[in-house]
Parts: sequence; C-alpha cells; structure tokens
Amino acid sequence: MKFICIDCGKESSSSEFEYHCTCGGLLDIVHDFQRYDADLLKHLFKERLSERMTPYASGVWRYKELIFPELPDNCIVTKYEGNTGLYTSELLQNYTGLKQVFVKAQSENPSGSFKDNGMTVAVSHGKSLGYKKFTCTSTGNTSSSLAMYASIANADSYVFVPDKDISLNKVLQTVSYGAKVFSFVGTYDDGIQFLEKHSNDLGLYVCNSINPFRIEGQKSIIYEIAQYLNWELPEWIIVPGGALSNATALGKGLHDLFTLGLINKMPRVAIVQAEGASPFHKMVSQEKRELTPEPFPYTRASALNIGNPPSWKKALHTLIQTRGITISVTDEEILDAKAVIDRSGIGCEPASAATIAGIRNLVSKQVIDKEESVLCILTGNILKDTDILKYYHLGEHTCASFKNTIQHSRLTLNSIRENMIEKK
Ligand SMILES: *Cc1c(COP(=O)(O)O)cnc(C)c1O
Ligand SMILES: [Zn+2]
Repeated sequence: MKFICIDCGKESSSSEFEYHCTCGGLLDIVHDFQRYDADLLKHLFKERLSERMTPYASGVWRYKELIFPELPDNCIVTKYEGNTGLYTSELLQNYTGLKQVFVKAQSENPSGSFKDNGMTVAVSHGKSLGYKKFTCTSTGNTSSSLAMYASIANADSYVFVPDKDISLNKVLQTVSYGAKVFSFVGTYDDGIQFLEKHSNDLGLYVCNSINPFRIEGQKSIIYEIAQYLNWELPEWIIVPGGALSNATALGKGLHDLFTLGLINKMPRVAIVQAEGASPFHKMVSQEKRELTPEPFPYTRASALNIGNPPSWKKALHTLIQTRGITISVTDEEILDAKAVIDRSGIGCEPASAATIAGIRNLVSKQVIDKEESVLCILTGNILKDTDILKYYHLGEHTCASFKNTIQHSRLTLNSIRENMIEKK
C-alpha cells in the first residue's frame, strides 16, 4: 500500500502518514492488486459470510484484502458494521416510475449511518499508530460514528459541531457515546479548516473524510452490493453528495471491482445534491474547472449542508470513470421522497432521500430510462432527525403529500371503529 497525492502525483510510503501532501493536495491510497485472482476472492468473501464474532464477520473487514491488507487483525475496531439490507419496493417503483429500484440501507449500520463503514477503518488505523485521541468536525453522523468506535477502542473523541442547522438527535447520540462535544459558531467548513490547522498541535487523529482510510472503508458499500447481487450491478447507482466522500468511495470501489474482474460492466453514477448546498453540481453543470465554495449553504437535509466539499476532486474522478452525472433537488422534493421511503417500511433521514428525489427527477427528464435498473444508497436512519418527522407529519403545513397524523381518540370500541373506517 502507498499514498499518492491527487494533485502532484507524489508518492509516499504508508509509514509516513499525513493527511495532505506537501503541495496541499489530498492523498489517495493505492494497493497492489496484481496478486489477486477474481474467483479466489469471490470464494473467500463468500466463505466469510458465515463468520461470527471475528473481524471478518464485519461487512467492511470481509473485504480486508481490498481495503487495508497490512493491518494486524488485533488492531481492528469493529461493530460488525455493514451487513445491511438490500431491498426492492413496489411503492418506490411507483413513485419513481422505474421497473426496478434497489435500495441499500446503510441506515442499518450500528450508529445509524454509512459513516461506520469508513470510521471502523480510520479508528483501527489510528489505533495501530498508537493514537488514543480522535477528532472530527461533523454535522452529527460522523461524530456519532467516531464517538461510538472511540469508546469501543477505549480511546477518547473530541468532536466539533456547528451550533446551528444540525439535528439534535445526532449531537445527543454523540454525547451519549462519551465524546467531548464542542459546539461552535460557524459552518462545517470552518470546523474542517480549524482541524486542518490545529489537529497536530492538539495530538488528535483526524477522522474526517480527508482521511484516506475512511474512503477505503466506504468502498465496502459497493463491494457488498456487488456480492449480494451475485457480482452483477444495476445500470445506475445513486448517492447523495455533501462532503462527497461517499461518491468518492463509490467510484473507487467500482474501479477496484472492475480492474479485479469481479464485475465486467461499469454502472453509471448519479450524485444528488440539495439545491441549497450544491457547489459540486453547479461546477459540473456549468462546466467549470474549479469548485466555487458556497459560504452560506442551507438545506433541511442537514447532512448535506456543506458549502466547500473537501473531496470534490476525487468525486470528479468518479464521474469521469463512470460516465456519471450530477443533479440538485429541492428540500420539498427531498421531504416528499423521504416520506415515501419511510412509508415503504425502509425509512431514512432526509439527506438519504435526495437519492429517490433525484431518480424521480432524472426519470421524468428521461435521463434514466424506465427500463433501466437503478440502485440508491440510503445513508442515514429514520430516527436521526425526529424534528423533521414532527414537522412533516404533525406540522401545520398542508403541502406534505404523505402526511400521516396521530389520531387522538377515546378508548371505546365505537370511536376506534369509526376512526378506522375514516382512515380507509
Ligand atoms: C455524511 C452523510 C451524507 C453525505 O455524504 P458525503 O460523503 O459527505 O457526501 C449523506 N447522508 C448522510 C445521512 C450522511 O451522514
Ligand atoms: Zn502533492
């Protein structure tokens, strides 16, 4: 394994770990895959599906050879993350107009979001270097995940969260796992800048997505999808885009699968941003070569409330490799799509629903054909943002098409019977 700078191409070995190259560029991890045979790998990954209570029972470490082969097993900090459900839904087919739509529920991870796929690898790496103090800036899911793994590893976590526009559920989850939480005046992007400057002074191991080990771990999402679908992927994969680490890992994981011969066709990727925080989509659609940061991003899908995504260059690579596209959707579209996903029994937090909103949009514009098979990655759990549930179902506003209120009723046979009939 070695590190390669995505800007200047300089290589460094794995013993000299830094988050950035001397030129300021982000680092990418490159493995030597020469020695792997596709059939042997498939066999190995299949065998491991029967593991219990070992690191290989994890849906991330099952693919250790493709993620972090050098790591000694006794450094692995795991909660058997991954192993999440892959579903189809008639309701979502009707809503999007598609014949076949798959949903990968990363919301079913131990801390309730896909951040666990990457965090288990970052914390394990930090532990292997001897770190006892971990940090991140977060809108709440990265911090929940970090706090959980740090506690499992018997280490400390220090996390930075903006004091506005994030979900209290996530902050409380982070606090409950035992992290020291610093709430600051400013945006997610300010928090990232602070850590880039000061994490070394504070002796903290940084677990944001500038950490390339996070990306390696998140590749497992598409590996697991491919394995569950018997190594034949749908024609489209849809992800939401905030800091763009998920989109980055998706492209990288697809590249691995393709070069290793585990799949023989590349799907196309669509990255969906929320309109109020869509600097990447703007850059791509306006054919600009540089991303212009948005100083005041705002969306109710708080996990997407990021105006200066650190990984945009890596995510651009995903688009190039997969003939990918970007799109933005409104908060209204997101909340309606979320209500349908919830109603389908699968459930997710708002940011995740940008995928289904995006698909609906792309199908109506005929960018995606009704006959094509599509998979979307749901990133976070339905309980991650209960304010939104309250707003949508119990609030005053009338445009919520899937609103489902709570019925207050006396506990008598007649009044219950009446209300049951009324509902139908
Ligand atoms: C982090 C997160 C996102 C955005 O992922 P990026 O890698 O930052 O683009 C989307 N949804 C949820 C629920 C998240 O936690
Ligand atoms: Zn460089």
